[in-house]
Parts: sequence; structure tokens; C-alpha cells
Amino acid sequence: MRFAPSPTGPLHIGGARSALFNYLYAQNRQGSMVLRIEDTDLERSAAEYEQEIIDSLTWLGIRWQEGIDVGGGNGPYRQTERLDNYNGYVEKLIREGHAYHCFCTEEELEEERRLLMEKGQIVKYMGKCRELSEVERNAKREQGLVPTVRFKVEQNKTIVVNDLVRGKVVFNSDEIGDFIIVKSDGIPTYNFAVVLDDHDMNITHVIRAEEHLSNTPRQLMIYEALGFDVPEFAHISLILGSDRQKMSKRHGATSVVQYREKGYLPEAVFNFLALMGWSPEGEEEILSHDEIVRQFSLDRVAKNPAVFDLDKLNWLNAQYIKKQSIDNLGEMLQVFLQKSPHWDAVRTLDDVSFSVLIEALHDRLVCLSDVVEEIEPFFAFPVYDGEALEMLAQEETRQMLAAFLEHLPDQLDLDLARSFMKGFPKSVQLPGKKVYMPLRIALTGKRQGPELPFLFTVMGPKEVRRRIGGVRGKE
Ligand code: GLU
Repeated sequence: MRFAPSPTGPLHIGGARSALFNYLYAQNRQGSMVLRIEDTDLERSAAEYEQEIIDSLTWLGIRWQEGIDVGGGNGPYRQTERLDNYNGYVEKLIREGHAYHCFCTEEELEEERRLLMEKGQIVKYMGKCRELSEVERNAKREQGLVPTVRFKVEQNKTIVVNDLVRGKVVFNSDEIGDFIIVKSDGIPTYNFAVVLDDHDMNITHVIRAEEHLSNTPRQLMIYEALGFDVPEFAHISLILGSDRQKMSKRHGATSVVQYREKGYLPEAVFNFLALMGWSPEGEEEILSHDEIVRQFSLDRVAKNPAVFDLDKLNWLNAQYIKKQSIDNLGEMLQVFLQKSPHWDAVRTLDDVSFSVLIEALHDRLVCLSDVVEEIEPFFAFPVYDGEALEMLAQEETRQMLAAFLEHLPDQLDLDLARSFMKGFPKSVQLPGKKVYMPLRIALTGKRQGPELPFLFTVMGPKEVRRRIGGVRGKE
């Protein structure tokens, strides 16, 4: 198995899913996985993306046995460092009549495309340089033309891709013109380098995105011309946005880094990506790494497109957050808390109050970055809107708040705050709803938020008094 990203951008959700399926397949079968960097597009490839891809995969919990960072016996693992390996194969293909030098200029090719389009024919290279003689080739060279190398496609040939997900997919070579395998700058194209590398690296299974399916017949022709064994192919379906269009920036975050920064847990994203196209045997959708590895098979990978369902990811993430211990969650939240304007107040909380704060948020967070908003009621002095002021001005509320201040103990821990809050409505002979909502509004200015005992404990009785005293001061 291998994952062979081009480092031309951050790791996309679709790429991460391809990497994951390779990883799961390898793990399930005790196979080995290679991380190869396909950087032959010199203009668009950048070292920073390479690192970002490695970081994103590592964050997700995907590991490989061979690759640019870990080395291995089949290296180098970056295509631009393998250029020397390719030369022998190019020469062999030319020598055996499977490839030839092409001197057509971009203008000539453009003109050919235009004419074909005008005639309503398939746009492909028509083979102008196929039969050039040695003399003609030399003459072109002397004119200063630098050739590309094209693969000679046999016409009217049926090419069958036996795909582990899609079954037999049949192509006809007439749709494919002689294609470039080495560009004029001497760099091999994707379709060529991928075959040589997969062969030289002893790759047995190629699991990749459906968008490469149309490349596969070209690759199969190269396999055949070089007499290589063909690996198994599995093309996994596209990921669509909720509007069933191809997932793009329009649909929100598309790169793994963006999910990481928003505070999605790697385990949740791993679980979510696995469910995108693959279905487990049972009904249970929250599955651990080991369980997914155990169950994974390509038989249960769907042919139809997977839809990216953000609600589901959010739900999964919240479940994974709930599963964390308070201590763990506290740790995980640190980087996000540091972005809050209340960070100073948070970091000076004693350990017990900090734990109570985290416990209060435990069930409320969808992703970790929500913490910035969720801690507002604890630390921001309340701002009251008209409706709130009206409620707080009611005689009944004012009396209740006065009684509350009288009864409020001077020392509070969570248990005490809970039992106090349970008993308080009775002691003022009011139903709970006439107590809890006004108190919440008085304390936070909001109608919703964390349970009151959490607020009391984290704020401490002094702050509670200050806030409620502030309301009463408005009388
Ligand atoms: N470099 C290709 C890409 O990123 C890899 C395709 C393949 O897996 O063969 O799309």
C-alpha cells in the first residue's frame, strides 16, 4: 500500500481519506505502507506542504513503514530524487518502439486541438511525430526544438481495469492519444513516474481517488509495455458536499489542518473519515482505531459518492470529547483557552475551580474551540438586554435575589452549590422556574448556559454577590 500525495497544498479531506483507507487496508492485512511524495510538478510543489501533509497524517494517527521521513529500502521517496531511476525505462520504451520523441510546439498542439474540436472529434494527440525518421528528428533538434517523450498508444484496444471497489471498468484505447511521459525539461509526468515507482517500490495495492480512474488505462499500458506485474487497484468515490457537488472550499473547511485548528479530535476525524465510503458490519458508528482496523475491508467500500456530513462529524466529535477525562480535556483545551480574552482569569483559577469549569463544559462542547465562547458566562460581566432588565425589575424577582444573597453560603464547592440550589426555591417558597431563570439572567445576562452550581463554584460567592448586587443596585 502507498499514499502518494503531491505537495501542492495542504492535505485535503479527500486525500486524508485515501491515506486512511490505504493505512487501514495495510493494518488489517499486516501489510506495509509507503509514503511517497509526488513532486514532479515543480512549480506547484513546496516543501512546506510536504511537512504539512506529514504533520496532518501524523496528527490523524496514520503511520507508515517507509517514506520520506522514515526512510526504507525502496527510497528515495521523493520523485524529484528518483529522476535517474526513470531514464533507463525511457530508453527501453523508445528502443522497443513503445515511445518516441515529439517535437510539436505548444502552438501546433493548440491548433490540432482547435481543429479536432471544430470537427466535433475526440481531442487527442494525433501522432504527428510518431513516424519521424532519425534525419527528421536531428533536423528538429538542430532547429533548437527540445522534444517531449510520448507513449505510443495502440489503437482500438480494450483496456480493462479490474477494480476492487468498482469491478471491471472497460476503456477503449481509441479515446486516448499518444500521451507525454517525459516533459521537455526531462521531468516525467505523473502517469509515467507513478508506474515506475509503484513497480520499483513493490507496491501490491493502489487505493486512490476515483478521479484517477481515467489515468489507470494509461498506466496499465505502461505496465504492459515494460512487462511489469500489475498491482491491484481500488478507486474510491468522490467526497461531495451536502449539496451533492464536489467538496470544495465553498462547503467550509477542506483541509485537515483547518479541522485540527477548530478543535476536532484526531480520533473523531479518523472515525468520521473511515465512515465516509466504508460501512462497518454493525449499527455502531463510534468505533475505536483497533475496531476499524479489525473490520476494514474493501468489500464494504461503496461505489457511490460519499457525502461530507458536517453534522455527523460534529456529533462524533462531541461524543469523543465526552469520553475524555476532565484532566485530559483540561489539557487539550489549554491552547484554545489561551485565545480567550479571559485567559488571565482562567489561568489564575485554583485547580479545583479549573476542574469544575472543565466539568461544566464537558457536555457542551462540539469542538474544542467552542470553549472560548462557552466560558464567557463565567468570566464576562453580564450585559442585560431590555427583556432581561424587565424580568429583573419585577418585584418578585427582586425579593428572590435579596433572599438569595442572604442565604448564599460564604464558602462553596460544587456539592454544596448543588444542594444549596436544590433547597433554595423551597426556602423562598417559589417554584424552580421563578428562581433559576432570573438567577441565571442576573448572573450572566443570558437565558441559557452552564448549570448554575457550576457558575457559582467557578465564580465563587464573592463574584456571585458582586453580580447580583450589581443588579440590585439598578433598582
Ligand atoms: N500524486 C497523485 C495525487 O496526489 C497520486 C495519485 C495516485 O495515488 O496514484 O493525486
